[in-house]
Amino acid sequence: MEQGKTLYLIIPCYNEEEVLPETSSRLTEKLRAMIAAGKISEKSRMVFVDDGSKDRTWEIIEELHRTNPLVDGIKMSRNRGHQNALYGGLMTAKEHCDFAISMDADLQDDIEVLDQFVEKFYEGYEIVYGVRNSRKKDSFFKRFTAQSFYKIMKAFGVDIVYNHADYRLMSRRAMDELEKFREVNLFLRGVVPLIGLKACTVEYERQKRFAGRSKYPLAKMFAFATDGITSFSIKPIRLITSLGLLIFVISILMLIYFLVVYFLGKTVSGWASTVISIWAIGGLQMMAIGVIGEYIGKIYLETKSRPKFIVEKYLHDGAQEEQ
Ligand code: UDP
Ligand code: MG
Repeated sequence: MEQGKTLYLIIPCYNEEEVLPETSSRLTEKLRAMIAAGKISEKSRMVFVDDGSKDRTWEIIEELHRTNPLVDGIKMSRNRGHQNALYGGLMTAKEHCDFAISMDADLQDDIEVLDQFVEKFYEGYEIVYGVRNSRKKDSFFKRFTAQSFYKIMKAFGVDIVYNHADYRLMSRRAMDELEKFREVNLFLRGVVPLIGLKACTVEYERQKRFAGRSKYPLAKMFAFATDGITSFSIKPIRLITSLGLLIFVISILMLIYFLVVYFLGKTVSGWASTVISIWAIGGLQMMAIGVIGEYIGKIYLETKSRPKFIVEKYLHDGAQEEQ
């Protein structure tokens, strides 16, 4: 395939005023070098997607757009979370590029591997997954939760790429296919592998966030993991059914046992075991109802089919297109 195609970097930003100036200057340097080397066209650029930030993020993006021809900006109408912001960015910008790479605003994803991504694209791959080669730089807690997440996902039969976050290249074609997935509960790491097409991985080392704080506190991480599982797998529901069956069988066995003991004339005090089993069953039932509720909630959201994102402003080519 010939070189010099147009690359867009799609970067979701939520309250990233501390990192944006540095991020944009490092990426500008990188893009310039790649353009100069003829690897990408001079129409290539980076697109910052403001996900309804509360700080000066959008003002900074506007300013960058005014002064730097390599910077575009998209303003979402409100905060909808990383996945929706990223998806909105891809869908808005895809008309203008041949391929896009999504990455985080904090440059934790090593930008030096962009060259490898692009090479793979020219070799004919439609999707390239960035995969972290180690988690040494993560805190123990983050490493533990992240790895448990991948293991649980795998156990529940969700096909995701191990240690791949959202550092990923997608061709225009792959993005067009992605648009056909109509689900509102968006979990890109699970959806993108469903597209199929020719895909490969590229390894990189993930850095520490160089400024600002993580926008993924524990509660958000937990919600994200639950969403990921319940959007792609109905195994938890099956698990509950089997568990219910198992408990039922055990209770029958217990009944037989107690009848036998009764007829042998031995007294059963059994207060503790009764109370414990009531609690155990009660807890299990509540958990089961919770899991089922989770799926019903998903169905509820899907039937409403609300838009996944709403673009308020799109700064492109100097002209400000209001939408
Ligand atoms: N982000 C976003 N909307 C949100 C939360 C996060 O667009 O509601 C962006 C954030 O600005 C960053 C990326 O998602 O570019 C990843 O977030 P972060 O670096 O805080 O997550 P971590 O690397 O700690 O998992
Ligand atoms: Mg980060």
